[in-house]
Amino acid sequence: MIIARGDCLATGIMENDSRVLLFFIDGLGIGTRGPHNPLDGLTDTAPLALFQDEISQLPFAGVLAPTDARLGIEGRPQSASGQTTILTGVNAPKIIGAHKQGFPNQALLDILREHSIFLQLKNKGIDSITFANTYTKRFFGRRPRWISATTAAVEAAGVQFKVVEDLRAGRAVYHDFTNEMLIERGEIVDLRTPEEAGGVLASIVRSHRFTLYEYFITDKIGHAQDYDAGRRVLPMLARFIRAVLGNLDLANTNVILTSDHGNIEDLSVRNHTLNPVPTIIWGRNAEAIASRIGTLADITPAIVGTLTAKVTACA
Ligand SMILES: [Zn+2]
Repeated sequence: MIIARGDCLATGIMENDSRVLLFFIDGLGIGTRGPHNPLDGLTDTAPLALFQDEISQLPFAGVLAPTDARLGIEGRPQSASGQTTILTGVNAPKIIGAHKQGFPNQALLDILREHSIFLQLKNKGIDSITFANTYTKRFFGRRPRWISATTAAVEAAGVQFKVVEDLRAGRAVYHDFTNEMLIERGEIVDLRTPEEAGGVLASIVRSHRFTLYEYFITDKIGHAQDYDAGRRVLPMLARFIRAVLGNLDLANTNVILTSDHGNIEDLSVRNHTLNPVPTIIWGRNAEAIASRIGTLADITPAIVGTLTAKVTACA
């Protein structure tokens, strides 16, 4: 892929200085309107309030690519196989013959360890890569038997995990982004408004070529069928996303929001849904990137392509 900058004729190749934030939200599909959907009737939930058969205006000129999470395999899409697919570009359910819930099994770990997006970027000389989420001492003290797809993807490339100390120094974000849950766990950290947290995540994105951020409370709310929690959390999450976008130079940065499967958009069922998920692309060449994305397996190739594209310079 070649990216032309400006309207003039190309005169040479210049350094690709683009940046990408992959903003992963667990369990967010494009649903229908109705009392089953906590996004229906809520104001200030752009860009999350997307409904089937409706065209939504996305803030910051975002482009929506409705994305297939079923990947040609029977059954409801699940987290471990969906996330593995997002983070590698490999259709994981097709390889293991099923959607795998919860945490990756050995077959999925093998795919992550070989094809992690972090590893792919490192192999192409892009070292400035990070996972913005904060890990607590509990993780390092007694390592959990099961690790998430994101943890495995980060580890595969030897990328350092961020800890509470990083969060205090403004170099990391907790998965609930306000730090409320971290404070409940006894950590001494300041509460952040969604706007403050968005500013912190944006500053992490500005100092790396590739940043991953993961949010999964949406999936927990979906399984709990907790309508009130959905109505409380979704506007906060939308504020956080808008603050991230507002603090970035979208002329040289792409923000790509995506999900592994639907869930919170239909609280009439406890399970994941079969709905498409939203992939939203902001920033340079958003339309072109969106046109490359049809399934979860297209996300990693689109990001690697954007960060490694040759950029032609003008005289
Ligand atoms: Zn789930």
